Amino acid sequence: MKEFSIRTTTRRQFLDITPQVREAVLTSGVKEGICVVYCPHTTAAITINEHADPDVVRDLGMALGKLVPEHANYAHSEGNSDSHIQCSLLGPSQTLIIHKGRLVLGTWQGIFFCEFDGPRQRSFYVQIIGDKEA
Ligand code: ZN
Repeated sequence: MKEFSIRTTTRRQFLDITPQVREAVLTSGVKEGICVVYCPHTTAAITINEHADPDVVRDLGMALGKLVPEHANYAHSEGNSDSHIQCSLLGPSQTLIIHKGRLVLGTWQGIFFCEFDGPRQRSFYVQIIGDKEA
């Protein structure tokens, strides 16, 4: 397993982690298999969406903010229930396919670390299983 550390700089942020995950797949030497990207936090998530146009994840963040407003009649005393709920909506992990030694991603797809309660020091894990021979 590989662990990556990242620093987020705003309360809500989508960081493109596709290059780090691609690199982990390359160095693993796995040709055919599965790659899990997992985030061990309760106010952050992992998603896959378009990374060609940064407005796509900007709009995603705006829509999540409308779905789950920052201030409501929440019980959680820490004051970040919106962050916890947005985290659960997107989920803590994504599973990707490795084929011919490469991640199978569509032309426009990228992998994002989604921060909902930054800025913070964060981490995510990449676990790769599979065959080193095709
Ligand atoms: Zn909390």
